[in-house]
Amino acid sequence: MAPRRTVLREAHGCVLAADVRATVAVPGFDNSAMDGYAARAAEVAAASEAAPVTMTVSDEIMAGPVRPGPLLAGTVARIMTGAPLPAGADTIVQLEWTDGGTGTVRIHQAPRRGLHIRRAGEDIAPGNLVLASGTVLGAAQIGLLAAVNVARPAVHPRPRVAVLSTGSELVEVGTPLGPGQIVDSNSHAIAAAAHEAGAIVRRVDGVSDDPDEFAAAFEVLLKSTDVVVTTGGISVGDRDVVKQVLSRYADMRFERIAMQPGKPQGFGVMNGVPVFTLPGNPVSALVSFELFVRPALRRMRGLVPHVTPLAAQVPWKTTGKPETGLVGDTHPGAVTVTVGEAMRSPSGKRTFPRVRLERDDSGQLVATSAGGQGAHQLSGLASAHALLVVPEEVTEVSAGTRLPALLLPDPEWAGPGAGAQESDGSHPGGSRRGEGLG
Ligand code: AMP
Ligand code: MG
Repeated sequence: MAPRRTVLREAHGCVLAADVRATVAVPGFDNSAMDGYAARAAEVAAASEAAPVTMTVSDEIMAGPVRPGPLLAGTVARIMTGAPLPAGADTIVQLEWTDGGTGTVRIHQAPRRGLHIRRAGEDIAPGNLVLASGTVLGAAQIGLLAAVNVARPAVHPRPRVAVLSTGSELVEVGTPLGPGQIVDSNSHAIAAAAHEAGAIVRRVDGVSDDPDEFAAAFEVLLKSTDVVVTTGGISVGDRDVVKQVLSRYADMRFERIAMQPGKPQGFGVMNGVPVFTLPGNPVSALVSFELFVRPALRRMRGLVPHVTPLAAQVPWKTTGKPETGLVGDTHPGAVTVTVGEAMRSPSGKRTFPRVRLERDDSGQLVATSAGGQGAHQLSGLASAHALLVVPEEVTEVSAGTRLPALLLPDPEWAGPGAGAQESDGSHPGGSRRGEGLG
């Protein structure tokens, strides 16, 4: 996504598109790191428990927009944490080393020169590289940008993703089901997945298998988003509406991929908008999202392969790159696991069994089946931690085998504004977040 300057709130979770160099010093001025008294070290050097030194308090300096006068010789200035240091002072006597006096103060311990003084620029000097292009902006990075007074960093904006499900059997969630009807779960799942992947999501009501209805809904979305994701209607059935309609466009390709789940797939870039047509089975749709859509969204967000908190989160095996190279380097959650129980896998297809992970005593991740492995069985996926990656030629996986796996995203990391989605019918021009404060 082309870089754009945005307010900090919107920049959270985005990737910096340019180096940020400091134009200011942080701290911006010499200041006190303690509540106490600004002093000249030489003048209080004799202070001890046995022989406290009494000094006149000539000033009181609070944190705030003040410019204190120079410290008068032979006096100290009461000073608060963060308040500017008066000229001439070279140390801070912390409050605890004194009787806390206001007119005069008894000091019973001598500070060395420079104690508890925060010097201008000691965190960041003007010209310093503050954050490099490509950095993901989390809480500390956002704070740092604010500290160096950058209100609108250049970031790769979040891609807008439109989600459209197809199928005449679908009804909206919350609707009583008639004969042959099912609830449209895909659009909700894919919308949530896209949100977890950092997109601004627009989920629209599903459409039937009528080609005109699909074509009309699709056209509207294509004009108003950065990515379109559809589900259903791409296999070999008579009413496979997505394939039927979009096959008219040379930009779209429909393939049968040697994988399970998710054999039928379609993809193309139409008018500059990547269009992913995922299969209809709910597990196929989500697994396809993980394998194809998430990496594309990562690329659009400007994320660099491997450098992700998700990979770093796994302390024992942070390769990010599976030993067999089966899943490429684009998935943030690629790890290597030990298979904990024998499994079968069809020949000639790369399969992605849904597995739960545990650590064994040596810290290695051990994978066991997360339940029903059918492409329609969402319950297994909902309890899974990862997708195991079983190579095409492997038909019997014995316990103890080491295989790659893709960690599924932790929903706790759903990101800023979790659940916030562009609602249907909203102005499609872009995010409405970022207005107001920021
Ligand atoms: P399709 O790819 O359209 O042939 O759909 C394959 C299977 O997935 C069928 O059993 C559909 O009923 C089911 N399916 C398709 N779309 C959805 C959806 N949005 N939510 C839940 N199940 C779906
Ligand atoms: Mg269908």
